[in-house]
Amino acid sequence: MANRELTPAFALGVAAAAGDVWGADRVAVGRDPRTTGAMLADAAAAGLQSVGCGVDRLGVVPTPALQAYCETAGMPGVMVTASHNPPEYNGIKLVGADGVELPVDALERVEDAFVADDVAAVTWDEVGSGRRVEDANAEYVAGVLDAIDEAVRERIAAADLTVALDPGNGAGSLTSPDVLRELGCHVVTVNASPDGRFPGRDPEPVEANLESLSQLVRAADADVGVAHDGDADRAIFLDAEGGYVEGDATLAALAADALDGGDVAVSAVNVSQRLVDAAADAGARVELTPIGSTRIMARIRELEGQGEHVPIAGEGNGGIVFPAYRLARDGAYTAARFLALVAGRSVAEVVAPFDAYHNVRTNIRYADEAARDALVEAAARYAEDADAEVTTTDGFRLDYGDAWVLARPSGTEPLVRVYAEARDESRARALADEMRGALEDAVADA
Ligand code: MG
Repeated sequence: MANRELTPAFALGVAAAAGDVWGADRVAVGRDPRTTGAMLADAAAAGLQSVGCGVDRLGVVPTPALQAYCETAGMPGVMVTASHNPPEYNGIKLVGADGVELPVDALERVEDAFVADDVAAVTWDEVGSGRRVEDANAEYVAGVLDAIDEAVRERIAAADLTVALDPGNGAGSLTSPDVLRELGCHVVTVNASPDGRFPGRDPEPVEANLESLSQLVRAADADVGVAHDGDADRAIFLDAEGGYVEGDATLAALAADALDGGDVAVSAVNVSQRLVDAAADAGARVELTPIGSTRIMARIRELEGQGEHVPIAGEGNGGIVFPAYRLARDGAYTAARFLALVAGRSVAEVVAPFDAYHNVRTNIRYADEAARDALVEAAARYAEDADAEVTTTDGFRLDYGDAWVLARPSGTEPLVRVYAEARDESRARALADEMRGALEDAVADA
C-alpha cells in the first residue's frame, strides 16, 4: 500500500538506483492521478537528481504517453502508477530509453544496486536539474492519431460513431477524449476528470465496475463503450446495448484483422481459445509466454529478431500490443484500432465469431510441499501422455486444436489452478475434470 510499503524513501531509493544504473543525462517522470502520486514522483525525481540525472516532469500522463515520450526523447523513464489497482495502492514502473518496459535482466541490475545500497551520489555541482514538460499528453495524442492510417481515419470519421468513454477518473481522462474526437467520433463521457480517489468506480475495467458506462451507452444511444484502467494502457469495450465484451473476444477480433498467413501472435499461457482460433483461421500461429507483460515484450523482441512478423500480442484483460506501433500496451491506440472494426459494423457483429466459448476453472488445494510436488509431477505425466501440443513455460498447457486445458500452481496460494476452454461447454468441463482427476489420483497415491 502507498505510504506504508511503498514510501517516498523507497521511491527515492529505487529511482536513484535506476538513475545510477542507467547513467542517463535525463530521465522522464510521470504519474497517474493517485493521491500519493505527486509525493512519490517528487521523491523519485529527488533520487534521480541526487545521482546526477536531469528530470523531465511530465505530471499526470497515461503510461503509454510516458513510454512515447521516452522513445521520442531517447531517455529512460519512471512511471508512478498502480495501473488497475484500488486507490490506496501505488507502484513504480521503469521504462528504457526505447520506450519499452525494462526487461527482467535490466530490472534485476537496478534491484541489485538498490538492495546493495550501491548508488553513487554526485557532488553538489553535479546534481541534476528539473524541468516541467507541459505537452507530453498533447504529443501523445498526436502520435496515436499519426499511427492510424489516413484511409482508416477517414473510414472511422465517415461512420459517424457515437462513443461512450469511461476513463475511470484515471490518466486517460486527459487524452482519450481528444483521441476519439480527433477521429471524428461524437464523444460522451463519464468519470472523465482525473481524480486519485477514483470516486466514479474502481480503476479495474471489469464488468462489475462498468455499470455507469453501460447506462451511458444506452442513454446516449452510443455505438460502442470504451473503458480504461487507471493508467490507460488497457481498453475494454461495451456493445451498443451496453453489454460487456470479453477482453479475449476483443483481442481475437483485433487479431483476426491484424494477422496474415505466417504471422505470429504472442500471448500468455492462459490465453483464450478465441485467439487460437482467430490465428488458425488466418494461417498464423500463437506463441505463449509465462504470465506477465514483460515476458510478452521479451518474446516479441526475440521473435522479431528471428525474422518473424508479430502484428499483435497481449492478454484478455484489455492490455494489447501492436508492435509496429510501439512495444507497449496502449489503451487509446487499442480503442482506435477497435473503432476501425466498428466503422460499418456493430460491435456485436465484430465480436460474434468469438462470442460463444465456455471456460471452466477449478482449484486443487494442497496441504504441503510433498503434495504440491506430487501434483506437478502428475501434471507432467498427464501432459506427456496427452495427444496435444504441450507448453510448459508456466505450468502445463495442453492444446488440442479445438480446446485447451492448463494446470498451473498459484504463485500466492497453496493451489494448483486448472483451466479449460472450448466452444462446447461439455468439452471444456470434460477436459478440466480429466486433468483434475489425474492430479487428485496422484495425491491420493502419494
Ligand atoms: Mg494499466
